Amino acid sequence: MPAAVTFRNVSRHFGAVRAVDDVTVEIAEGEFFAMLGPSGSGKTTCLRLVAGFEQPTAGEIAVFGQNMAGVPPYRRPVNTVFQDYALFPHLNVRDNVAYGLMIAGRGRAERHRAAEAALELVQLPGYGDRKPGQLSGGQRQRVALARALVLEPRVLLLDEPLGALDLKLREQMQEELKALQRKLGITFVFVTHDQGEALSMADRVAVFNQGRIAQVGAPSDVYDRPATPFVADFVGSSNVLPPEVTGRLAGRRLPASLRPELVRILPPGAAGSLATARVISTQFHGAVTRVHLSMDGLDLAALLPRGARVPEEGAAVGLSWDPDDLHLMDGT
Ligand code: ATP
Repeated sequence: MPAAVTFRNVSRHFGAVRAVDDVTVEIAEGEFFAMLGPSGSGKTTCLRLVAGFEQPTAGEIAVFGQNMAGVPPYRRPVNTVFQDYALFPHLNVRDNVAYGLMIAGRGRAERHRAAEAALELVQLPGYGDRKPGQLSGGQRQRVALARALVLEPRVLLLDEPLGALDLKLREQMQEELKALQRKLGITFVFVTHDQGEALSMADRVAVFNQGRIAQVGAPSDVYDRPATPFVADFVGSSNVLPPEVTGRLAGRRLPASLRPELVRILPPGAAGSLATARVISTQFHGAVTRVHLSMDGLDLAALLPRGARVPEEGAAVGLSWDPDDLHLMDGT
């Protein structure tokens, strides 16, 4: 059974810019795969390479085992949902959704039937006669999704599809998208720079840094066992301890990641204290309080759950953590 999408040593350079630099990864059929990384790290270029809007400078892309070199976008079993939706303002919702079927030469009755079914799928039944301008942002996003799904792609490419939505709607659409993907069983390749979104939706996450994949794994792997300081910092904020500090605390001179929610704050000199620190500031965030600490000049963060005693700013405190929670990183 070939992978849904295979990148084999794929690079895409623009002059001196290595937008994508020797990427090798396999995305399984039916997988919800997130490409996560900061702006400019090469995620969108990877998606465009799969869609056929870009050609690799080196390497090979295959979809279901078929090498895509020389295959034009409209002949690939993939479809793309863009961040800006790219709906036609003068066409109504039904004709927007049915557009790809019209290009494919399908008859009017079939187009309308398929468009109505796709609108039903994205929970917009009965909206066919409206123009995009008469819809909310979330509804437009759903129309863009319906338009991509109506062609029944085996792989759906989504480029920051929720980027334009406010937080509440974004969270709602995250759940809906995930449920839809499960229901349809098709492969989703989802580009985002929002780590919360990637962790909560994806089966696996590839973390991009400067055109390369720094780590690929299940959300809990990437979060709990980051391979490099970059991944530790980008995927949820983490305390990154330099090798000399880890050497002192854990006996191995390697950078280490320590998640703020795993740091415990104790009274100074309390039994079980592994280090001492000073409280620089505290910030109330509702569900948690963030404590900014200085440990021998090294900035650290701790997150206290609701109800925990919050130390005074300026106070000396003891720190502890479970030794297993100090995650040593041997990647670079
Ligand atoms: P964002 O989240 O901002 O969309 P991204 O991770 O998707 O970022 P890409 O859009 O893939 O990043 O861009 C990767 C790098 O390649 C960037 O430095 C970008 O400026 C460069 N780049 C992308 N397309 C082109 C192009 N057509 N010509 C020249 N440089 C390009």
